[in-house]
Amino acid sequence: MAAEKGPGPGIAHALAERRAAQIADVRYDLSLDLTGKARASGTIAIRFDRVAGSGDLVLDFRGPDLSDLLVNDRPLSTQGRRDGHLTLPHALLLTGANRITARFATPVAASGAAIIRYRDDKDDGVYLYTLLVPSDANLLFPCFDQPDLKARFRWTLTAPAGWTVIANGPLAEQSAAGAATRWRFAETEPISTYLAAFAAGPWTHWTSAPAGDRPISLYARASRRAEVDAEAQIATNRAAVRWLADWFAIPYPFAKLDLVLAPAFPFGGMEHVGAVFYNEDRFVFREPPTLPQRVNRDATIYHEISHQWFGDDVTMRWFDDLWLKEGFSTYMAARIQAELQPDSNAWTTFLLSTKTPAYRADATSGTQALWQPLDNLDAAKSNYGPIVYNKAPAVIKQLAFLVGEDGFRRGLHHFLRDHAYGNATWQDLLGAIGRASGVDLGAFGRHYMLRAGLPRIDTRLTPAGDRIGALALVQRPARALPGDPGGAWPMKVRVRLGYRDRDDVVLETAFDGATATLADATGLPMPDYVWANDGDQGYGLFLPDARTVAWTVAQGGSVTDPLLRALLW
Ligand SMILES: [Zn+2]
Repeated sequence: MAAEKGPGPGIAHALAERRAAQIADVRYDLSLDLTGKARASGTIAIRFDRVAGSGDLVLDFRGPDLSDLLVNDRPLSTQGRRDGHLTLPHALLLTGANRITARFATPVAASGAAIIRYRDDKDDGVYLYTLLVPSDANLLFPCFDQPDLKARFRWTLTAPAGWTVIANGPLAEQSAAGAATRWRFAETEPISTYLAAFAAGPWTHWTSAPAGDRPISLYARASRRAEVDAEAQIATNRAAVRWLADWFAIPYPFAKLDLVLAPAFPFGGMEHVGAVFYNEDRFVFREPPTLPQRVNRDATIYHEISHQWFGDDVTMRWFDDLWLKEGFSTYMAARIQAELQPDSNAWTTFLLSTKTPAYRADATSGTQALWQPLDNLDAAKSNYGPIVYNKAPAVIKQLAFLVGEDGFRRGLHHFLRDHAYGNATWQDLLGAIGRASGVDLGAFGRHYMLRAGLPRIDTRLTPAGDRIGALALVQRPARALPGDPGGAWPMKVRVRLGYRDRDDVVLETAFDGATATLADATGLPMPDYVWANDGDQGYGLFLPDARTVAWTVAQGGSVTDPLLRALLW
């Protein structure tokens, strides 16, 4: 059997790279009829600019039906569709503006479809919502399904009368369409296909619109109305938006913000542009929530709202940088929580729930580097574990401490400003933070993004009588890994000298090669203990010296600071 001509299944990186060089300024005008039960049928108009002489162009669509396809008003048979792709021959394409129109259908099902259907047992209400990440946009509608071909979306959704429909853009107009209602939404800013979304059903909702601030609406299943603490949830989302807009010095980047509590949602949340979906199960409590339940829910809110800037406004060029947006949002969530909810002990949770699993995974022989090449979006879901989701935020915490608060914050501002509504890579981020802080981050990228494993750090405390003669930290790889390039991880830490009978002394030091020397410690009284990662800024296995181990065993229970206590134990 001869090999079929075409790019093969999934979205290959080679296809995405080629296509990103062929077209730009994409717009999707999408109409979908949601009144059917097992499938939704629709029409689409795709407009884009094409580079002169850029050859044939591949369109993605895995849905069951594609018909009436016109390329610049000339018909093209859809018989040639293979593996979810249709090649548009260059003879039909123009230089500059192009327009493609088609009819299509997509399945609606309880799972495994681009449109998830959920039936409420209590009142038989039917709820529909989409979840397209990483590459199911091309199951929902014909498109160029890659994060760096951002497009302006215009949704028109026809739904049964009595339903409410939410999409990425603000509602522009509602009109009768026979027995149904047509919801037309305003055009969005340029967004990635995986961030497109809608939800439809007999939702109940709450809107909060304080004077001088944007309205935020929360949608939930009608049958759960009495259980939803809507005011508290909206307030937490609003506080996150305010905090981030102020901290980044960049206003909320999209036209509106809706929140949907999606039933049977497979993740904690998903940061769709302007329409964040949260896991209803984890957001609606049958009993009054415990403090940990509340803190957990709020952390998810801070994480998803951070994505509106970091992920949605500025998006990874390809899913090999998924770790960057996830790590960053988890790190920012802890920062916001530590500041807005001091009682949450957010940095202690960060150590125990985020960093500890990363250390555990990164100390094994099977660990891998944070950044991994990704040849096809088909493999995106299976590629990521604790290294991506747990090591990434830990590394970003060290990065922030290493370059200092001012450079970190200004670097992020420049990064978000320079790539607004566009795409960027981890090299772009390190470049922006490096320029703003004046710190060369080349070695940081090589050791934390491209190198597997982590350092172990030993404390070397040498007494001189009852005073400190010398204090230094020494690092080496926690485990010898095959192919390890060697060298020392750049790192800055805060070292605490603990005393029973006088105030503790806290010193900062940065590694110069494998050693970090604490010259200012020389001559100080011998401490009762030394903790080399005070504030948990460093990334590595910090091993206390014998003196500190003995003190911790005898006296550790007397430590009142929860983070220090968690670190020592
Ligand atoms: Zn996320």
